[in-house]
Amino acid sequence: MTALTDDQLRFDREHIWHPYSSMISPPPVYPVTSAAGVRLTLADGRELIDGMASWWSVIHGYNHPELNAAAHDQIDQMSHVMFGGLTHEPAIELSRKLVEMTPGSLGKVFIADSGSVAVEVALKMAIQYWHAAGKPEKHKMVTIRNGYHGDTFGAMAVCDPVTGMHEIFSHVLPQHLFAERPNTRFGDAWQTNDIAPLQAIIEQQHANIAALILEPVVQGAGGMYFYSPEYLRAAKALCEQHDILLIADEIATGFGRTGELFACNHAGVTPDILCVGKALTGGYMTLAATLTTTQIAETISAGGAGCFMHGPTFMGNPLACAVANRSLELLINSDWRSNIQRIEAQLESGLAPARALAGVANVRVLGAIGVIELESSVQSAAIQSLFVDEGIWVRPFGKLVYIMPPYVISSEDLATLTHSMVNVVERYLSLAD
Ligand code: PMP
Repeated sequence: MTALTDDQLRFDREHIWHPYSSMISPPPVYPVTSAAGVRLTLADGRELIDGMASWWSVIHGYNHPELNAAAHDQIDQMSHVMFGGLTHEPAIELSRKLVEMTPGSLGKVFIADSGSVAVEVALKMAIQYWHAAGKPEKHKMVTIRNGYHGDTFGAMAVCDPVTGMHEIFSHVLPQHLFAERPNTRFGDAWQTNDIAPLQAIIEQQHANIAALILEPVVQGAGGMYFYSPEYLRAAKALCEQHDILLIADEIATGFGRTGELFACNHAGVTPDILCVGKALTGGYMTLAATLTTTQIAETISAGGAGCFMHGPTFMGNPLACAVANRSLELLINSDWRSNIQRIEAQLESGLAPARALAGVANVRVLGAIGVIELESSVQSAAIQSLFVDEGIWVRPFGKLVYIMPPYVISSEDLATLTHSMVNVVERYLSLAD
């Protein structure tokens, strides 16, 4: 691909929204012309080692020959066909894999278009379930603070009311229930009273609560916070005791990122409803899924509506399903567990020097996720250009400078990535002084 012209870049600035961007003072964007493996090539020829996996999703690296082949093969058959009244092999084989690889007996699959939609579907399933079960008053959600579940209305309503980026919409969102997030970090000794805030809400309001929704073990966009799997076990027990469904949002954590195939596996907990997305297609295109149990699916289907009330135009898109099938095969047929352990060990040693820097509040690693938390928020555009100058792609938000590289990253590239990341943080902190 050729370099972008000044006119194209001006058009971008003047006409195109980027995620969470201003149309008055648009943040700088870097034109990218191609990507392969763990490298992004910018229009000016510079190559960046990618630390973001395009927001958790590109686990096998960019421009992967097998994923490319899966896409080409499927395009030659059919790129899309409606899923109402029709079915096809890519959706069937993908659903079979998801049923087999996800925890417990989540036997019913709804293939959705994006992570936020998968969350909407999960919330609707929970509400429709209790409606069909003769308890329509159970329609509230309970969740934990600092969570993030997406940008659509239902999803926004269960994001943290302050850090979840949707405060401005709070007056029009359904009001749900928020418990303090657990204090016990992953790997620390479990403090049993950590469950008390959730317990208090559930004991008082269970008659109106449909489901507990949370990101198991790792809270992503709401703070990159890793908490004890014991919390998940205690929360699951409370849900069972009080007739509340557990929705696990594994859109970021799913498919090996935390060192287990699903973060729920750290706790040996099976949710009633599970959302997956992001890495599902290896980051090739948008696709997500919501899984649930036979009992929930059959209760919904036996209710007044006689069906589950959702069905988007691009549901089960064959092209995305075909790529997802190949992506899951690549993952399952690889020694993903020891690979994530390799990345984890290297992130630990590579980011450790940041602990000594004045202005760094915390450094933490879990699986293939590495986080440097600063004491105050960063100036995104300023630090971003330092990263690009160092030849790495890292996109901080708030106080968090973090990476979740593609799983295919070599030890050499990972060493460059962590070394440069610590260097930039040090330089940025000294400039900010
Ligand atoms: N849930 C979680 C845990 C997420 O991290 C995200 C995306 N950051 C979403 C839901 C929403 O997914 P999408 O951006 O694909 O709508």
